[in-house]
Amino acid sequence: MSVANGRALLATPGPTNIPDRVLQAMMRPAEELNTAAMIALTDGLLGDLKRLFRTEAQTYIYAANGHGGWEAALTNVLSRGDKVLVLSSGRFAMGWGEMAGFMGADVEVLSGSWRAAVDPAAVEARLRRDPDHEIKAVLVVQIDTASGVVNDIQAIRKAIDAAGHPALYMVDGVASVACMPFEMDAWGIDVAMSASQKGLMTSPGLAFVAASDKAHRAHERATMKTLYWDWTSRRSPLHYMKHCGTPPEHLMFGLRAAFDMIFEEGLEAIWSRHALLAGATHAAVSKWAEGQALSFNIVEPSQRAASVTPVLLQGYEPDALAEYTRAVCGVTLGSGIGDLTGKAFRLAHMGHVNAPMVLGAISSVEMALQALQVPHGSGGAAAAIAHLSQGASQDRATL
Ligand SMILES: *Cc1c(COP(=O)(O)O)cnc(C)c1O
Repeated sequence: MSVANGRALLATPGPTNIPDRVLQAMMRPAEELNTAAMIALTDGLLGDLKRLFRTEAQTYIYAANGHGGWEAALTNVLSRGDKVLVLSSGRFAMGWGEMAGFMGADVEVLSGSWRAAVDPAAVEARLRRDPDHEIKAVLVVQIDTASGVVNDIQAIRKAIDAAGHPALYMVDGVASVACMPFEMDAWGIDVAMSASQKGLMTSPGLAFVAASDKAHRAHERATMKTLYWDWTSRRSPLHYMKHCGTPPEHLMFGLRAAFDMIFEEGLEAIWSRHALLAGATHAAVSKWAEGQALSFNIVEPSQRAASVTPVLLQGYEPDALAEYTRAVCGVTLGSGIGDLTGKAFRLAHMGHVNAPMVLGAISSVEMALQALQVPHGSGGAAAAIAHLSQGASQDRATL
């Protein structure tokens, strides 16, 4: 007997649940691409991206997924043979680094753990051993969606400054922008990138880059440039050039609605909502872990991400658990990827999520643990409820 019928719930860390308002905004005819309305739409989105990245820097929109955003960031500032330092803490900075290597950069990985955040002291030590400043860029992710870690972007900036190193600081905010604080200017980020389908609640297919003046100076010397990604041509006053061709109109209509929802709720309120829902998830996992079969991937509580929680499963098949929640409850969990393949499931609490969605996902996992007889501490869902009822209040309009 399945109880899966009803609204299906995606608890995957991308793509995430798309609000009805965003879907409805996309249900409209195409438009001639240079109308005043289309031009205003582009300009409005570029301006609102500055609000999201918290920057005065120039922003760019690409018809691409997050991988495209990675390529956009790299190609505009690097030349073949440039040395790039990748700060590893899971899968995604490594993926960005692999892309840089494919494009002809000389990639060095500062090895880290899959179970902990990047150590700023290790970054400082490595940069101090580069007196000739061969390293041109430092790549890091704020939240690594595979390991579930959150890196301290401000502390890593301080480490780069303490070493007196001029490398460009490049940060992936795909799984963190509009989920937790991201302060491009205050934290001295030179190139920030993100994508539409995680905290930004829109269909996959749009990538975003913001680039500082320092990044634009590197851009002038860079030789990896290709026309589609090129910042210079995209700064043209011609609307068509801002997209290097036809704008991805319907994705932009959807994104407009998503941005409206974000600014109506307020970024700070969104960060609080994510922190509270993440805390509820962590309360449930802490209970389950008492049975010794489940555990957090990220050991140190303060390093656990606000948008996704990977849960390790020992002696049991995570895929069987995910199959149960999907077929019986209508909840799709994220699977373990990279080092966690076959060892973990991931509970996302990212983007368009509220209390019943997160409690529903947690309760479905608990149902599966019971049905599949996986040893676990009971009361995970109750612990999540207790956490929410302590943290939420009626003046918090979003709950
Ligand atoms: C999802 C993700 C990406 C890649 O985005 P795609 O749209 O799948 O290419 C990059 N970085 C992080 C941190 C992500 O979570």
